[in-house]
Amino acid sequence: MLSKDFFWQVIRQRPSSTALHECRHCGYTMESDTGECPKCGSREIASYDLE
Ligand SMILES: [Zn+2]
Repeated sequence: MLSKDFFWQVIRQRPSSTALHECRHCGYTMESDTGECPKCGSREIASYDLE
């Protein structure tokens, strides 16, 4: 699982973003919900609303 430290690090790097999408398979994070991981092709995407 993703550590909290890493999670908040990602958030700090993207202050303008209000949502993050993370692949549950490989952990790749993206700002837009593509519905599919561009890295590994998994459709298991977790969404985090940061508003
Ligand atoms: Zn992936």
